Amino acid sequence: LDREGLTRSESYDLIVIGGGSGGLACAPSAAAYGARALLIEMHRLGGTCVHVGCVPKKVMWNAAQISHALHDAGDYGFDIALGRHDWAALKRSRDAFVARLNAAYERSLANRGVELLRAHARLLSPQAVQAGDRRLTAGEVVLAIGGRPMLPQIPGATLGMSSDGFFDLSERPAAVAVVGAGYNAAGFTGIFSALGCRTTLVMRHERILRQFDAMLGDGLMQIMRDDGIEVAVDAMPAALARGSDGLLRLTAEDGREFGPFDALVWAVGRTPATIGMGLDSVGVQLDAGGHVQVDAWQATNVAHLYAIGDATQHAGLTPVAIAAGRRLSDRLFGGQSERRLDYENIPSVVFSHPPLGTVGLSEHDARARYGNAVQVFSSSFVPMYHSLTQRKPRTQMKLVTVGAEQRIVGIHILGAGADEMLQGFAVALRMGATKRDFDDTVAIHPTSAEELVTMQ
Ligand code: FAD
Repeated sequence: LDREGLTRSESYDLIVIGGGSGGLACAPSAAAYGARALLIEMHRLGGTCVHVGCVPKKVMWNAAQISHALHDAGDYGFDIALGRHDWAALKRSRDAFVARLNAAYERSLANRGVELLRAHARLLSPQAVQAGDRRLTAGEVVLAIGGRPMLPQIPGATLGMSSDGFFDLSERPAAVAVVGAGYNAAGFTGIFSALGCRTTLVMRHERILRQFDAMLGDGLMQIMRDDGIEVAVDAMPAALARGSDGLLRLTAEDGREFGPFDALVWAVGRTPATIGMGLDSVGVQLDAGGHVQVDAWQATNVAHLYAIGDATQHAGLTPVAIAAGRRLSDRLFGGQSERRLDYENIPSVVFSHPPLGTVGLSEHDARARYGNAVQVFSSSFVPMYHSLTQRKPRTQMKLVTVGAEQRIVGIHILGAGADEMLQGFAVALRMGATKRDFDDTVAIHPTSAEELVTMQ
């Protein structure tokens, strides 16, 4: 035993703390280069994305898509009687799928030569980690600790649930409120509504998804209202209370009251899981939001200590955490000294109903950066699928270009298929495509995507 009462040090080339999207990418990449790599995870392997994020969310989104299709089916001549949706059965199938993924991750780590330790880890020094009663040292340490959902600091907040709680729901609430204006608020609202809940979306500001091009948020809010969702704007939550009827009521600072609801989901942001990690004693710099501050190489201000994924100040997306983790291993152990993640032009999709996708600069940001050199092309139409349906959600698209050569610097799509449409177009944007390149590409007809190459 050493001075701290821990078993004697074991030494590695790399210790990764956190077995979520980032850690599960970083550690095996290092091992593939021959590094002795240890991954420490205190919960289940897979992290947020697999357990309470992308994966179960997409399952719920798929269910909601099916619900919309079933409602449209009559317009296409199908004679179907809609029975009730069994939320509990869907949850069981979803949980079983996630459990299978979990087991697969465990097998894959072992096959790829990464040692796994199940424990809570904290830093003793930049290159030493305590995990349970073990003291471990490494040449390089990577924090891939992710984050957790926040609740607002108001009376009664804990009567509502976080995004984690959404995935625990075992039955459909009859009336539900979602509070927030980010991608999770947009996603949960669409899911609840499509699966038959009376749904209210409450947000502090005047528009959802304010970080994106305004066309997307405005268009989505219109579609939500057309779908019968109550969208309350400029409502700062002040208190949540449960009445004698057992139902929840939300009061806003301006005195407005919302409810009654069976359930309320807070989708008001996430906070990095840095507390209790020993970061202050090691002197790691955090930003105002508690994120580990990293430079362009994922390096913290402390030598040999790095951070990736949601723990950092960068976009909280699974492929971002994965890409950062792999590139870091390429650089530290693969001899690729210039390898790092370029955080510009990262495409992202919101799994709302309908979905939306965005890459590059919004019109507003492009004008702020390039002024009069910006030219915008947009299109708004009812997709052919909805020519026959009673529901008529509009699809909207926008291309933001710069300069005489009309280089495309922003692509924004709201509408069915946006989720699958954007990836290829993001490649074109990254390669420096111009409007002319788009125009010269022969359209695929009849699709919504063809609008992107035929815009006037
Ligand atoms: P995480 O995946 O959170 O992993 C961190 C891991 O570290 C956890 O397993 C945790 O247990 C472990 N850990 C933390 N502290 C310690 C410690 N001290 N010791 C040991 N282990 C520790 N992204 C997308 O790209 N697409 C989506 O559709 C999408 N949907 C989402 C939906 C929801 C509801 C949420 C919440 C997120 C969604 N995301 C989505 C974001 C995505 O899940 C995250 O960006 C991603 O999981 C970040 O990966 P990470 O490795 O940084 O952290």
